[in-house]
Amino acid sequence: MLILRTVVALSLVAAGTAACSSTPDKGESANRPKASASRASNLAATYAAGRSEPVADPYYPERGHPAVDVLHYGLALNWSPKDKELTGTATLAVRAAQDTDNVTLDFSGRLKVDGVTVDGKPAVPQRHGDQLIIPAGKQLTKDTTAAVVIRYHGQPKQAKFDAERPDAQHLGFAVHKDGSAVALQEPYGAFTWYPSNDQPSDKALYDVAITVPKGWAGVSSGTFQGKVAQGDTTVYRWHSGDPMATYLVTFVADHLTMVKQTGPHGLPLTYWLRAKDRKKNLATLRQSPKIIAWLEKRLGRYPFPSGGAVIAGNSGMETQQMITMMPGLPADDYAHEYAHQWFGDSVTPRTWQDVWLNEGMAMFLQMLYFAENDPRSLPFTQIIDNVRRGQDGQLRKKYGPPGHYNKRAFDSPNVYMDPAVMLQEIRKQVGDKKFFTMLSGWAQQHRGTNQDRASFTAWVKQSTGKDLTALIDRWLDSKTTPTK
Ligand SMILES: [Zn+2]
Repeated sequence: MLILRTVVALSLVAAGTAACSSTPDKGESANRPKASASRASNLAATYAAGRSEPVADPYYPERGHPAVDVLHYGLALNWSPKDKELTGTATLAVRAAQDTDNVTLDFSGRLKVDGVTVDGKPAVPQRHGDQLIIPAGKQLTKDTTAAVVIRYHGQPKQAKFDAERPDAQHLGFAVHKDGSAVALQEPYGAFTWYPSNDQPSDKALYDVAITVPKGWAGVSSGTFQGKVAQGDTTVYRWHSGDPMATYLVTFVADHLTMVKQTGPHGLPLTYWLRAKDRKKNLATLRQSPKIIAWLEKRLGRYPFPSGGAVIAGNSGMETQQMITMMPGLPADDYAHEYAHQWFGDSVTPRTWQDVWLNEGMAMFLQMLYFAENDPRSLPFTQIIDNVRRGQDGQLRKKYGPPGHYNKRAFDSPNVYMDPAVMLQEIRKQVGDKKFFTMLSGWAQQHRGTNQDRASFTAWVKQSTGKDLTALIDRWLDSKTTPTK
């Protein structure tokens, strides 16, 4: 997610020079699983890249179900702006991660379930609040797969989230007066619009088809597969062949048009925006190839086969292969969300305890990008020094240490700024060359996986030859700013 501008402005530029200001069942057939019930045993092979080892989340244990490993989501969604109604068929390829007799998913109690099948046989689910408990009709021993199909409809609504950040107090599917819709959902909120195992440790592959009225567009994460007119509607198709966590899936339905551009080494990029946003955003969007090339120089190859941005919502979010950006954000916020494609999207924290693995890296790179590309910037070392002396201690006091943030402080500036200073400390210890080799190696060697502090610390040691465990623990756990 982007950092609130007021926080970063204090450090980036010399006093008196304000940083850029910014406030913060149509199409169903193609989405049916390739396997019919009789071929369900092939699901594990077909969607092998979607395999995860889900764990309970220490911050949000009520979300997500460690017995469930969704390998693939096929979502055929119809959005009616007039009725503000979503109609969906979700086809999930599920692996039992533990022995279980049911498939429990997160799914908004507001949405009506019209029918469920497991391996082609009807099932009657139980609903408890925002949980959907589907009896499997048999014992699913560990590693057994099942094809679960859920048909549903209703008027989605955002979920309230007890957070201090103003742009995170509501999660999930937001509907506007004009019938447009945007889903932003870190740390969870996918459950407000599709049945899911809504936690970061269960990554999965996706095929999403969004049907909207003619003149509208439906944008999601992944690579755009094209659109097809069907009567007075249009179907937009999106494919994610790389595993993705639920919080990184976007949904935007609006009067959007597409602009194409080519990034480094032929990387296809698409930008989606309303006519009224073109003037204010297109020039910044067109800096994407430059920003991605700058990141590739430091982090190695961009981890996905396509990228892009959709201008929508009230924040900036690293939704996978298609960042979601509110109108008017400056280039360094784009650098932040693109940096997340390596740190957060491709390599994802196993639990929300380690959200610093996302935000610390993205913030470090955002500030470095700003320092190297914006003439108003202070030198990078001075930016870091400003954070260390001016903010780090206050942020720890207010929000907790970045490795153990206070619960209401989800995604507060402490998990951005303090770990960014830590990264600069590591850089000082090992030198530029080893530091960037370590950083790019972290992203490249762990592509498509979930990781945590222990594996990062081990990686730093393996990659640089220096054991910096004590330094890392100090910077993540200390209630006051470490002296070194
Ligand atoms: Zn971020």
